[in-house]
Amino acid sequence: MKKVLITGAAGFLGSHLCDKFIKEGFKVIGMDNLITGDLKNIEHLFKLDTFEFYHHDVSKFVHVPGDLDYILHFASPASPIDYLKIPIQTLKVGSLGTHNLLGLAKAKGARLLIASTSEVYGDPLVHPQTEEYYGNVNTIGPRGVYDEAKRFQESMTMAYHRFHGLETRIVRIFNTYGPRMRLNDGRVIPAFIGQALRGEDLTVFGDGSQTRSFCYVDDQIEGIYSLLMSDYAEPVNIGNPYEISILDFVQEIIKLTGTQQKIIFKPLPKDDPMQRQPDITKAKAILGWEPKVDRKEGMRLTYDYFKSLSEDELKKNEH
Ligand code: NAD
Ligand code: UDP
Repeated sequence: MKKVLITGAAGFLGSHLCDKFIKEGFKVIGMDNLITGDLKNIEHLFKLDTFEFYHHDVSKFVHVPGDLDYILHFASPASPIDYLKIPIQTLKVGSLGTHNLLGLAKAKGARLLIASTSEVYGDPLVHPQTEEYYGNVNTIGPRGVYDEAKRFQESMTMAYHRFHGLETRIVRIFNTYGPRMRLNDGRVIPAFIGQALRGEDLTVFGDGSQTRSFCYVDDQIEGIYSLLMSDYAEPVNIGNPYEISILDFVQEIIKLTGTQQKIIFKPLPKDDPMQRQPDITKAKAILGWEPKVDRKEGMRLTYDYFKSLSEDELKKNEH
């Protein structure tokens, strides 16, 4: 039985990855320090012999007994309000954490995939973003802690690949959504749905002309899995190229939820990228991958998930 270590296992993407690898017949070790994650996301796996959980901060030395075939490094705060609240931990998990996992991969002869991000492109001057674009990041801005940690993570990973011959994969993930996102993580989809469910006004930052391209979680997980199993070591964008402005998107949310609340405008956070759309030519050509779930269907599934949460959870998740 092949064995995989997934860091950030109690988070949104990590928990879906655990499900995927269990389904594919792997032995899965999930690791998380629960700083932004929740054990609820993986508690259904605890009864399985093929799943183990380690409560550990990967910015500290990582020890895993026995063999390992694959490592997926997904531990990191991922939402702007999270990484603004814990900037040093964010820098550490992208740098020290990545170094620890590269060392572990080398010691075990495992293949390592790291979760990079569209944020390496910063506020992009090239549109849509291809993997060849070097990006436009403000190193000392508030988002710099996340963006630069991820850029360092990519450089460190390529250095281990080139210098030690380690098998590595780099996925540049574009905005992904779906069940198990935290309602109060501040990202736009849980923010708008949470506001609609609690009967609050919907907060659009800036004038809403900034764009994003949203990928449903099942598509994202398939893309990541295909990349891990491929033999391609350079970064690959995985996301849904269907782009929308935040102002048009809030209208879709109003229609989906039937909320009677109004839209209110708040200041645009510093360095908030004005446009974002993945060029997925590479993913299509190399992995034969492209997203299948359209936004209408994905948003319906996501809304159903948030609606199924209890009143207490809704209240607890106000911010
Ligand atoms: P999340 O916050 O739901 O999950 C992150 C998990 O990592 C949490 O469970 C958290 O407790 C854990 N973690 C954080 N620091 C840790 C540490 N030092 N040691 C151990 N565990 C730690 O976020 P997510 O959306 O699931 O994102 C997962 C990964 O994917 C992140 O690396 C993120 O940068 C990347 N990513 C996500 C998106 C997206 O749209 N969701 C986009 C780009 C990149
Ligand atoms: N956003 C918004 N209202 C909110 C939360 C976010 O208008 O309540 C905007 C935010 O300014 C950004 C976009 O939605 O332009 C996506 O934000 P998110 O935090 O989801 O992701 P990221 O900026 O990292 O792509």
